[in-house]
Amino acid sequence: MKFSQTFIPTLREVPADAVIASHRLMFRSGMARKLANGLFTYLPLGLRAFRKVENIIREEMNAIGSLEIKLSVVAPGELWKESGRWESMGESMLKVKNRTGADLVISPTAEEAVTGIVRDELSSYKQLPISVYQINAKYRDEIRPRYGVMRGREFTMKDAYSYHVDEKSLDETYQKMGTAYRRIFKRCGLAVLPVRADSGAMGGSGSEEFMVESEIGDNTLLLCRECEYAANVEKAGCKPDYEAAGALADAAPLEKIPTPAARTIAELCAFLKTDAKTFIKTLIYRAVNVELDLSDAPGCAFLKRVRLAPEAPAVYAEAFFAACIRGDLDVNEMKLAALLKASEVGLASDADVERLTGAPVGFAGPVGLASLPVVADETTAALNDAVAGALEKDAHYRHVAYGRDFTPWLVADVRTVKAGDRCPACGGELYEKKGNELGHIFKLGYKYTKSMNVRFLDENGASQTPVMGSYGIGVDRTLASIIEEHHDDAGIVWPMSVAPFHVVIVPIKYEGAVKSAADAIAVGLEKSGVEALVDDRNERAGVKFNDADLIGIPFRIVVGEKNLTLEAPSVEVRRRGEPEAKRVPVDAVVQETAGMVFDELMKLG
Ligand code: ATP
Ligand code: MG
Repeated sequence: MKFSQTFIPTLREVPADAVIASHRLMFRSGMARKLANGLFTYLPLGLRAFRKVENIIREEMNAIGSLEIKLSVVAPGELWKESGRWESMGESMLKVKNRTGADLVISPTAEEAVTGIVRDELSSYKQLPISVYQINAKYRDEIRPRYGVMRGREFTMKDAYSYHVDEKSLDETYQKMGTAYRRIFKRCGLAVLPVRADSGAMGGSGSEEFMVESEIGDNTLLLCRECEYAANVEKAGCKPDYEAAGALADAAPLEKIPTPAARTIAELCAFLKTDAKTFIKTLIYRAVNVELDLSDAPGCAFLKRVRLAPEAPAVYAEAFFAACIRGDLDVNEMKLAALLKASEVGLASDADVERLTGAPVGFAGPVGLASLPVVADETTAALNDAVAGALEKDAHYRHVAYGRDFTPWLVADVRTVKAGDRCPACGGELYEKKGNELGHIFKLGYKYTKSMNVRFLDENGASQTPVMGSYGIGVDRTLASIIEEHHDDAGIVWPMSVAPFHVVIVPIKYEGAVKSAADAIAVGLEKSGVEALVDDRNERAGVKFNDADLIGIPFRIVVGEKNLTLEAPSVEVRRRGEPEAKRVPVDAVVQETAGMVFDELMKLG
């Protein structure tokens, strides 16, 4: 391929909104351009690398027996109404109407569409398990698209879905997916960290995310210094750091005390000269689409359940909860949402807090709180001499004992685990890293197959519901992450497996003997299966060298008149990222370079 015949509009300038290396470099190297906020165009060079990532994913998915399909990106709203996600997906799903007024969805993911097909085609257990995937556009109306293609509105996802007669079969496919994902990222030259992820709110039973370490990562990960434990903070647990409470008989009697002008834990600690660990912090939360049964929950008798779709589970559209936790800790809203099977959980407004607790913000507590279900973190169940809000302005209780002065509706782990906490597996110290999610594998359970009424006949002729898994990889985000991990000051340093070309040939002046030699090398390389780009532009050598570095092609062959006229004519071969070029005889360069290219491809697997 000749440089002048393709379209690689490299830039000296960096786009103003490009704050991370991959975003800057994708634009500067002429790989991509922005069409609008969150929407991008891949230009020829970018698309070559993109297709290589896609192909690695495709090969590994095929290798585990997943079958490639391709769905329409626009999907009927009806399917989403069946699953209940027409309502629960919120603003991130783009809904449109066609000319006849029919509701359509620009797919943000495709559980519904694939489940719809499986429902129509499935009749017998003999057809299971089945695993299908596609590599296709998705649209999510992200509030704040950023970092270029890392978080776009339209992006490409490899999304796979599997259906099984039982959990055991699901587990086998889930494991295979995990292995395939590890291979995919290794072949892309990425070090990924598989972490345990939250799966509660979706009703699933297992979930793993594949993270790359990144300063701009949206995810906080907790890792153990001693063992393999790694989890997203949304899911991370820790070893209890408290002793069980002493006997209630020994606890001091409950006492109400005035606490004027002290409402934060820090202010109260100073006022009472005590430690935050002796406090019960109580926060009021508003949860949306709560699936958990609240019929026996305090203050919830009047709540009505609704079905977002005929077959979807009944939910409470809105419910309020008090969450109690030891004063030095924070409530993890994702854990709380998973516990309540809610689609969303957030702090209640000040007005709601006053209305529900009878006191301004800062004085809520579990003692005497009858208007709300209390969800107590496990840490509070170990307290029998605590300070807690007294549900009135400027007053707190002290000597509060769990089980004597209050009995929560639920006790659970809703704590945000932090660096320094102890590993739940081995007790080692946990530390934090920031991570970016590239892929996610998920045991979904029966959420979609039940709500969308998928059935099959088992060996005994009985009608059953299949169990389901779903598995995603962001292709664009993977590509951007490769650049994040493989670049230097001069530009991209592509791993061979995803490089848009394997070799760039730079003739110092594209004319005469230099031109013939450069073209002959290119033809020779291409014949051996090596992708070569000849920089035939009428530019200064320095410009061509800079562009070759910027676009990051793994090998650069410089063809110059002087070296060609030596007694043993030679060219210079340089590995991108290495300072020294090596002189190679012209008649050996094709074989030698091809050998190095294939060696590297082999190494990546
Ligand atoms: P995130 O938490 O980053 O929003 P998600 O959990 O919503 O991602 P999934 O629904 O699990 O993402 O989608 C599978 C994969 O699709 C993600 O692992 C990620 O690589 C990719 N992805 C999701 N949203 C975007 C986006 N807005 N832009 C680019 N890639 C995305
Ligand atoms: Mg995810």
